[in-house]
Amino acid sequence: MRTRICPFCKEDIHFQALVCRYCRRDLPPVTPPRKKNSHAWLAAITTAGIIVSGAAFLAAEFLRERKNWLTEPTRPPESQNPPD
Ligand SMILES: [Zn+2]
Repeated sequence: MRTRICPFCKEDIHFQALVCRYCRRDLPPVTPPRKKNSHAWLAAITTAGIIVSGAAFLAAEFLRERKNWLTEPTRPPESQNPPD
């Protein structure tokens, strides 16, 4: 049997009890765990994954382009060309 602790007398009571059987005080209703929360959590993880993979893709593309810039033969500036 699932129980919880009465916030007033700290006795073990049924988790769905609305009135404590020890101190007879009204208890706040138990909020059931929502499955929506786990769905929102999954959506947040998926969104984060898309953002991270997108950023990783952009970073990989940037590094590839940068490698091209570095391997590209650098032309000497025109001012250093010997005049005819
Ligand atoms: Zn109580």
